[in-house]
Amino acid sequence: MEVIKNRKILQDFIERQKEMGKRIGFAPTMGALHKGHLSLYEEAKKENDLVISSIFVNPTQFNNPEDLEKYPRDINRDILILENSGLVDAVYIPEVTDIYPEKAESQHYDFDGLENEMEGKSRPGHFDGVGTVVEELFRQVQPDNAYFGEKDFQQLSIIKKMVDKKHLPVNIKGVSIYRAENGLALSSRNQRLHEERRDASKIIYETLEKVNDWFKTVSIPEIKERVADIFDDQKGMQLEYFLIADENTLQETDFFYKDRNFRAFIVVVVDGVRLIDNMHLD
Ligand code: AMP
Repeated sequence: MEVIKNRKILQDFIERQKEMGKRIGFAPTMGALHKGHLSLYEEAKKENDLVISSIFVNPTQFNNPEDLEKYPRDINRDILILENSGLVDAVYIPEVTDIYPEKAESQHYDFDGLENEMEGKSRPGHFDGVGTVVEELFRQVQPDNAYFGEKDFQQLSIIKKMVDKKHLPVNIKGVSIYRAENGLALSSRNQRLHEERRDASKIIYETLEKVNDWFKTVSIPEIKERVADIFDDQKGMQLEYFLIADENTLQETDFFYKDRNFRAFIVVVVDGVRLIDNMHLD
């Protein structure tokens, strides 16, 4: 596996691959890698000649400096995980100046309102930062296919919207959520939880499963009350939001419409760690 640490070397590498006509699959990450990330590369390997990873903790998508500072980083461990996976041909680990030559600043995007829902409300500017870094990485890596996890469903929708609006020459593929055995969605942030709290956090997944069940017979306002009650009883856990939204517009709904797809979205703060999850509702 090639470990590429600057933009110029990446450029030469990509040029060589393109000359050979290789189809490139790409999935960007912020490191602290786990099996959820590897599931993206598994998909990429099936559909491309070459799989590229990137590791870059993007400063412009953090609206909270403490969150940026606390974000887990262990680049040597990450390189080893990628190497041992046998799934990845090259990993790009840029410096901040490789992505932001002048100032680490976001561009401003119009994602047709997707950016104002859910995470957009609690993390102002977050999706401008995501759009900026992903667009720049696409420009540098020139992937044919790029893979994003449904775990960050709103992010996936926004990237699709950006590619569509800007006519970027890349296919965006969503990959389903990879979960631990107890159902907890794998996340780099889980590392910050004590084992016992990590186990208790399975209640998030269990709740989503209940919601999926209730969705068939119970009204959405009543479902929301039941979810709030579940988390009222959990020590050290705060429900930041729970809602049901249209999968296309991401707009919250209190009513069910037969011809549309809906998804439940939840954010719970466990011992100061913000855990995010979602589930398609049957
Ligand atoms: P991150 O490093 O957290 O920015 O995530 C990089 C990519 O991995 C994003 O597309 C995430 O949605 C995806 N990802 C993270 N965790 C999971 C998971 N448990 N299952 C599937 N994809 C994931």
